[in-house]
Order: sequence, then structure tokens, then C-alpha cells
Amino acid sequence: MQFDLDRRLASLSVGEFSDFTLGPRGSGASGGLWRAQLGTHWHLQLRGQMEDSGSDAAFEVPITGTVLHKGWVLTLTGRIDQIVREQGRATLREIKTVTRPVPVPEDELRADYPEYFAQLSAYVDLAAEAGIEGLPKGGEIRGELVFVETDSGLAQTVSLEAADRGAYRERLDRVAEFLDLRLRARERMRGLRFRSPFAELRPGQETVAAELRTAVRAGRSAILLEAPTGFGKTGVLLEFVLGELREGHFDRALYLTGKSTGQIQVAATLAAMTAGGPDLGDGAPVAAWLVRNKAEHCVNTVFRCVKEVCPYLDGIEERWRSSGLARFYLIDNLPRDLASLRAAGFAARICPYEITRAALAFNDVWIGDYNYVFSPESSSLFSERPGFEPGRTLLVVDEAHNLPSRAADARSHSLFSGEARELADALRRARAPARIVSDWEGWAAFVDGLDAGHPLAPELEAEARSFLANLAEKTASVPVDPAALDSRLAPAYWQAATVAAQLEDADLPRLWWCPRAGEIAITCLDAATAAGASLREFGGVVLATATPGPIDAFAVACGLEPAALLHLRAATPWREGAYDVAVDLRVDTSFQARMRHVPVTGATVAALRSGQNRAVAVFFPSFAYAEEIAREMNGSFPDLRVALQPRRRELSAQAAWVAEAVAGADALFLVLGSGFAEGIDILGDRIGRAMVVGPALPEVNPVQRAKLASLGKAGREAAFERVYRIPGMQKVNQALGRLVRAPGQKARVLLHCRRFAEPGYARLLAPEYQSARRILDDGELRAWLDAS
Ligand code: SF4
Repeated sequence: MQFDLDRRLASLSVGEFSDFTLGPRGSGASGGLWRAQLGTHWHLQLRGQMEDSGSDAAFEVPITGTVLHKGWVLTLTGRIDQIVREQGRATLREIKTVTRPVPVPEDELRADYPEYFAQLSAYVDLAAEAGIEGLPKGGEIRGELVFVETDSGLAQTVSLEAADRGAYRERLDRVAEFLDLRLRARERMRGLRFRSPFAELRPGQETVAAELRTAVRAGRSAILLEAPTGFGKTGVLLEFVLGELREGHFDRALYLTGKSTGQIQVAATLAAMTAGGPDLGDGAPVAAWLVRNKAEHCVNTVFRCVKEVCPYLDGIEERWRSSGLARFYLIDNLPRDLASLRAAGFAARICPYEITRAALAFNDVWIGDYNYVFSPESSSLFSERPGFEPGRTLLVVDEAHNLPSRAADARSHSLFSGEARELADALRRARAPARIVSDWEGWAAFVDGLDAGHPLAPELEAEARSFLANLAEKTASVPVDPAALDSRLAPAYWQAATVAAQLEDADLPRLWWCPRAGEIAITCLDAATAAGASLREFGGVVLATATPGPIDAFAVACGLEPAALLHLRAATPWREGAYDVAVDLRVDTSFQARMRHVPVTGATVAALRSGQNRAVAVFFPSFAYAEEIAREMNGSFPDLRVALQPRRRELSAQAAWVAEAVAGADALFLVLGSGFAEGIDILGDRIGRAMVVGPALPEVNPVQRAKLASLGKAGREAAFERVYRIPGMQKVNQALGRLVRAPGQKARVLLHCRRFAEPGYARLLAPEYQSARRILDDGELRAWLDAS
């Protein structure tokens, strides 16, 4: 929908109009591509029959007109399937395919598909206003819905009646209410007042918001803000965002970050900037919504979103109207934390996620995960909100160095033979058609026959594609009782259709391979084109990170032309001289050589800890390496307490572990690239010395080999840089960046591998870690340590 609030105009398609809702949608039609293909097939069949009959008929006729409703002028545009003229009257026909058998009692069809009746009513109204070619002015215009059963082509015709106009008028009311609320939101934004997020500005902070403003207003659609950890990036960005919204340069802002702790921090900072107080009076809080994932909203006994299993979904559309849940977007300042949403949804017997879905349209700042923009499976939550216009939206992507890999992960899939076999059993028990059961069994046998650890040969890949296309088609076209599949198997059942739909984007490079027996993986090697296409839709984009790596490579990985990305580097004079870095040339930690140096590595950890009253942090490229050195420490330095990070923990548990380890251990062994090394901010003033045991190059596996091969044209050196060196050194920079987070903090860091001195690695270190001292022998190490 496009609208001009000042002139009280809006335009939308008839399809969008008839589907328009502020609350949850009914079950409606589903089935994606296959459903669309079947729909086209039956449309053509009925058209052929009409043409053969020699009737005076026109097909796919464009209709446009305006409707005045509650002070708004709405322009509706669409195409009616058929107009048949006979005996001085015209019949407008819309054809709708349904998967249920027909005929069905007409009342039932009216109850189940009100949007179809609203759509046809709109067409009849518009046609009456505009007139129909060949029909005398004032001639009778009737409407008919033709419901066609997808499997058999059997048809049932239902005539439009005067009472059906109720569904049409209800849509008009919904659109007018939506526009009224948008108008209210815009007035609220114009009066927005906020305070600085900083009690006192740190050097460097004062200029960045202005630089961002200048850049975005100069038409730079994508800006890279490079700001180190501790700069106060979130506050600076929010100040910029609120200013742009208040000035009306954007209608809405999206603030994306990958970690839930980061999202919570953004919401808290925003609330603090706009809360009432002596400086702001009652305050004028910005309408912001923190979007948590659907599972966190869930109040059902199982996370299974089908109406046959979830009472919070069944009949939801009718209950919504009297539920009072619209208060979450009608009343400013109502608590909208997850607990409040869950309690309200539970009480009204409505899935709490629907509250989030409905309320988003009336909020000015949406805070959430990358997936809501960059994942084909999740992006509809944002993209389908009424009034969401990317061209009028400011997008902020925090921790943007993760964007390329997250966009690729969202397009990568693993499918398992065990699940396929269980699905076949469950479908058999549910008396699903035998051909579906045998298709799933065939797929399971195919996956089991793959060679573990290897890419698929081209002919096997073609066979796998064909299997998936067939499973997707069956999933969409053959009805299966949703209650027959439990919450574990249901996602696996729909996955084939999801994967098949994504494979239609043939431009993305993918590797089909078998990581282990019984599993097939379809790994997206590079999602830059998809990420870039998403980014270019937005009116303004700020990509913020402490560690972008080489700027041109970062732009390319995000799918942007390097020249289109404006690079702003935040000044942080307080970090100058905060790091004392040395490169240890005594050892080679490459995979082939590291075992020879294990005793030296262990002794170096002990030397770093010696004479210190604080723990040392030691960063490893892998768990296996960390465990090896931990064993060495146990044997050679049994008095030193080593705390090795656990393999998997929730973020809050990770922080608790680090806090405990810092207090009780002599050395913390952390793995580069894990949440422990990158997401924990308490190391800054608790660690005196740190050591990085080699660049964290990704492990060599079929995916990395395929990435290298796909970059073959760039040359071996450039390909190696992009696939191995840049990601590896980015993890090193991420970990080191967190050691100094505030003015006055210092860190002494030993880069424990001679590769750090090689130009290819050294130039990828952040500027403050470069021009490091070189350690050639034990004596030089002692001298460097003694100098502290
Ligand atoms: S619809 Fe909502 S309440 Fe029901 S299972 Fe899904 S998330 Fe849970």
C-alpha cells in the first residue's frame, strides 16, 4: 500500500485490500508455487471452456477506481478473471482454487473465505462506478465466485449477495483505521524528544552522528560505520536514528543485531533516551518493538503452529476482534515485554506472536535479528506488514561483519535420512496416500546411499534436486492431516518445500555434500547477491562493526559495489597506546607444525601468568587445540589453574562462567569465534595479559574447498585471503577488541605464531595491534614481560 498522509490518499491492489487485516489472518490459501501453478492451470481450463462456448466474455480485465471512506480516498487496482455479458447484464467472475472437495455449503465458504467475497464486492463496486465496455449505463452487474477443487477440477459457483458487502465494508474500515493510526504515529514522531545516551561524551563520539546524518542526506544509501568495542556505537546510532525519524527523513527504522543481549540493550538504551524526567517532562517515548522469535512467544504445550494442534491458533481471527489485544498498538506505553505478551495472549486464547505481528505496523523502530530482513523464511514478518516501505525505512545492521555468513546460513540446509524414514512411518500411520509414503522412503534410501565426507557428483546432485522437487509438489498438493506429525517431524515435512523454493534462485553458488552418513547438506557458499539485493531496497543503510576487515572485501561480501559504500571510521583517541602487542616468532601454530611446539606454548602461558595477580586469557583457534594445551599445562604446570571454556552454553551462562573463571583461575582458555571470545565484555579490566595462539583459520573441509574453487578466477592468493585469512583474522581482531573497552584500560597481548608477522596476516590486524615488537627467543620474551 502506498499512502500520502497529508493528502489523505492511499492506493493498493484489490488483492491487498481484500487480504488487509490488522490482526491475525485466517488459514487462507497456502502451498506456494505449486498452488499457484495449479491455480493458473484451472484458470486457463475455465477460460478455454468459456471461449469454446462462444459467450461474449473478456478475460483478465483491468479495473481501477476510487472509493471515499471515512475521509480517506482509496484507489483500488486489480484484474478480474472474467467478465461475461449477456442479455444486457454483466457477470464478474473470480476463480479460486481450493484443496477441499466441493460442493460445500455456501455459508461455510462465506465463513472460510471472507476475503474472496470482499474482493469480488470491490470489483463489482469499482465496475459499477467505472462502467463496463459494451454494457449500457446502469446495466445490471452481478458477481460470481467459482471455487475449483485442485485435484479434480470440479467447480462450485456461488453468487454474490447483498449481505456479502459486509466483508467489503469491514475491509474499508480496517484500511481507514490503519491510515488514522499511521497519521497519529507520524504526529507522535514529529513531537519526539530525546536526551543523549551519554552522561558525558567520550572523545570521538561527538562527531559521528553528524557525519552519519550528512552522509545519509547526501544520498549515500549504504554507510559502513567502523567503531571499536566500547565506543558507544549503540547510543550514537540511536541518536542518529531518532533524529532522522523526527525530521521525517524516514518513516521507520529497523535495528538488527544477531544476539538477543544486543537487542535487549538497544531497547533499553532507547527507553532511557526517551523516558520522562526533569529534562523531558512526561517524555514522549518512541514506539519501539523488540521482536523475539516465535518459539519464545509460544504458550501452547507444544510448539506446533497448526490449528489442529494449537488452541491459540484455531479460530483466532474471530476471537481477535473482541480480544482487546489491539490495545498493544492503540495505547502508547503499554508494557510489551515478552511476559506481558504471553500473559495477554494466554488469557485471550490467541497466539502471542500475533500480537507482535499486528502491533509492528504501528511502531516506529523495529528491533530484531538479521533473519527478519535477510532470511527468505523469516523476512515476511517485516516485509508483509501493512505500510512497510523499505524505500522510506532506515536500516541499521549492527555487528555487520556477521552479515555475509548469516545471509548464507539462512540459505543453507541439512536434511536427514532418519527423519525422512520417521516421516514415512508417521504418514503411513496417518493413512496418507501410499505414493507420499514411498517418496519419503525413497528419499531416505537415497540419502543413506551417499558417500560421507564428500561432495555429490553432478548426477547425484541432479537426482537429489529431482527428489526434493517431487516431495515439495506432493507436500503442496496432497492433503495430510497436520495432527499426524509431531513437533519434531512437522518442520522436516515442510523443509522439502522450503528448500525447493529457495533452489529457484539459481544464481547462488551452493555445495551439495554429505557431511556424515545419513545427512545431506546444501550449503550456500556465498549469499552476497541476495544480501545486496535486500540492502538496496532500503532508503538508508548503516552497517556497523568493529571489525570489517578490508573494506572492499567487506562490501563485496555484502553484495555491494565497493564504491557505493561510504566508510566512516570512528575516532577513539583513548585507544591509542592502550595495547602493547608482541609477535612470538619462536613457534609455528599451523596445523602441521603445532604439536612440535606444545611444550613451548604451555611454558609461554605459564610465563604470562607469572608475577601477575590477574588471570591471563588465552585464545585458541579450536577446542581440540585448547584441550591439547590444557593437558600440557596439567602435566608440566600442575599448580596453574586452567579454566577451559565449556563447549556449549547460553549467552547468560557464558558470562557467568567467564566471571567465575576470571576470579578463580590462572588462565582462561577461550576459543576464537565462540560467544566466549566475542560476546563477553567483562574481560576489559579483569585481564592483564592475553595470548592468541595462531590465526583462527577456518577448518579445511569440502565447504571451504568449494569456496576456494568458486573464487578460482580471482587467483589462488586472493581466494585464500577471502576464504581463510580474512575470517580468521577477523576473529582475532574481535577477541582483542574486547580487552580494552574504556579509557584507561590497557592490555598486553602476545600473538603466539610466526604467521602473525607475515605481511598477509599482519596487514589484516587492526591498526592498534600492528607494528608489534617481535620475540625471537625466550630471553626476549622475558624482557618484554619484565618491562610491564
Ligand atoms: S501458534 Fe503460537 S501458541 Fe500456537 S504453537 Fe505456534 S507459537 Fe505456540
